Amino acid sequence: MHVIKNTKPLVFLFLFICFFSSCRKAPESQTEFVLGTICSVNLFEQGTSEVYQAIFARLREIEDHMSANRADTDVDRINRNAGVAPVQVHDDVIQVLQKARYYAELTGGAFDPTVGPLVSLWGIGFEHPRVPEENEVQEALSLINWRDIVIDAGAKTVFLPRQGMKIDLGAIAKGYAADEVSRIIREANINKAIIDLGGNVIVIGSKGRGIPWRVGIQNISGIRGEYLGIMNVTNKTLVTSGVYERYFEQNGRRYHHILSTENGYPVDNNLLAVTIITDNSIDADALSTSLFALGYEKGYELAASLPGVEAVFVFNNGILRGTPGVFENFELANRQFNVSE
Ligand code: ADP
Ligand code: MG
Repeated sequence: MHVIKNTKPLVFLFLFICFFSSCRKAPESQTEFVLGTICSVNLFEQGTSEVYQAIFARLREIEDHMSANRADTDVDRINRNAGVAPVQVHDDVIQVLQKARYYAELTGGAFDPTVGPLVSLWGIGFEHPRVPEENEVQEALSLINWRDIVIDAGAKTVFLPRQGMKIDLGAIAKGYAADEVSRIIREANINKAIIDLGGNVIVIGSKGRGIPWRVGIQNISGIRGEYLGIMNVTNKTLVTSGVYERYFEQNGRRYHHILSTENGYPVDNNLLAVTIITDNSIDADALSTSLFALGYEKGYELAASLPGVEAVFVFNNGILRGTPGVFENFELANRQFNVSE
């Protein structure tokens, strides 16, 4: 997902181009690789090096606490101590885990932060992904259950009762991080900004004179910069989960990174992507993964039951459906897609 700054010609806040060329030097934005993705913050004329420093220091701190793929983060220590002992963690890990548990309950476990054993088994997004054996899948599934997480909020400890259990916050941590960046920006009294943490977007304020931001929803082809439509928004977060973010191919089949906690395989339904538009990025991040995993019927029902949550579902036949009113601020930009009446 990208924010479009101009309309003629349509110019993206195009992360890769920015990363390798002018934006790094431009004083109004900063881009770094953190949280396993390209994180870009644009404070326009109100940016100062102090604020940028505070933002990226906070992002690195969140990664230090929450990455499941680095040694000695809080999450890594929780995982290594599964079946052994509770682990002292930072406040933000408690907060994110509590939120993750909330969405696990809301989705009947389709979203589950203990999905770690499956994520490791498939290795999607890592160097050596592979299609696992059925017995390996079953073993990983037997270790997944969000109800088993023991959180002691008073003592600030987390315990996984069975050896081999693993927490993975990949579906929610970037949303939390984006909200933290937003908080830092607002506390600095900056009222116009774009935060883009690898597609987790928050826009603060408007483009100017009440003109909304134009945020591009990425095309399923996965080529960054190609988009299927544009959402006009002010003070919102947009987060997309889909089949194109991280995947590998084997024997002509594509295996993507949102895993079914029912059967242990990449979620296989008629959806290519789900975009959530709401106020807090942690909710948008958890919900985009949740609704994708739930599929359209159950996902729609859940979105419709949550006040202030809008959703766009992209089907593999090119049809787009959404919650009531969501397409009022939307412009289709790719003829391969159609909004369903
Ligand atoms: P992205 O990382 O591209 O923003 P998501 O927010 O949808 O995408 O998160 C996908 C990540 O979440 C996976 O890479 C994995 O780490 C984790 N994950 C995969 N399946 C599930 C699931 N069913 N519930 C919770 N987390 C999941
Ligand atoms: Mg997510």
